[in-house]
Amino acid sequence: MKSVKVLLKFPSGQADMPVAWKFATEYGLEFSILQADIRPDRGGRCIMDITGEPENIEDALYYCRQANVQVTVLSRTMVWDDECCVHCGACTAVCSKKALSLDKETAELRFDNSKCIVCEMCIPACPTGAMRVDLMP
Ligand code: SF4
Ligand code: SF4
Repeated sequence: MKSVKVLLKFPSGQADMPVAWKFATEYGLEFSILQADIRPDRGGRCIMDITGEPENIEDALYYCRQANVQVTVLSRTMVWDDECCVHCGACTAVCSKKALSLDKETAELRFDNSKCIVCEMCIPACPTGAMRVDLMP
């Protein structure tokens, strides 16, 4: 089993495609809709979290692409909001990859995204909500 988050962009005229029904009945996928803004006359976009056998996910996304739905597989990334950060250092204690550290000279937090494995341990550790997960293409 595998889980992926995908962004589906529907052209106008394809907004009433029975994607959810197809995913469940034809490809045996479980899914939740994280965000949706679709209008019958204009098309729109939808972010879905899909779980299923890898080949079934591939087939389901192929079905979408064949119907001119633009498919983008999203990955998770951590975002540090430096305006909310009070540089207390609490997050550095739970970051096993040392992606978060306090600068020895300035005592300010430094975030090295290239070391981050998106384990999310820093989210509950932060008292100001300065760490969050975002989805990106
Ligand atoms: S998500 Fe994990 S690895 Fe990334 S900064 Fe937070 S604690 Fe460190
Ligand atoms: S725990 Fe939150 S407020 Fe404290 S240094 Fe880390 S990101 Fe900044």
